[in-house]
Amino acid sequence: MNVSGYKDALLRKRAEILSEGSAKPLQTTMDNNTRQGDLADQASGTNEVHIQLKLKQTDAKILQAIEEALYRIEKGTFGECRDCGEEIAPPRLNAIPWTRVCISCKEKQSA
Ligand SMILES: [Zn+2]
Repeated sequence: MNVSGYKDALLRKRAEILSEGSAKPLQTTMDNNTRQGDLADQASGTNEVHIQLKLKQTDAKILQAIEEALYRIEKGTFGECRDCGEEIAPPRLNAIPWTRVCISCKEKQSA
């Protein structure tokens, strides 16, 4: 996927979250880690209310991350890891276009 493809994916995802109506962007800082990739793991074993709550929180975080990713597209730095500056692997960007860090930095964060 090229950058405009990622931009389309980001805009679609943003519209999808916003159309659900209840998610509002939270105050988040650049230091917050993206954890949406872990959602499936976190959700398993919790009850439905917890899952709903987590989804709402996650939506807000994703929205924030999408805004940042769109900004990086404008600046021409999209696809660079925020932490190490290396390029993020395309399969990871395809799966999570709003991700801020490469897989090895992500693994360091969750370790
Ligand atoms: Zn990295």
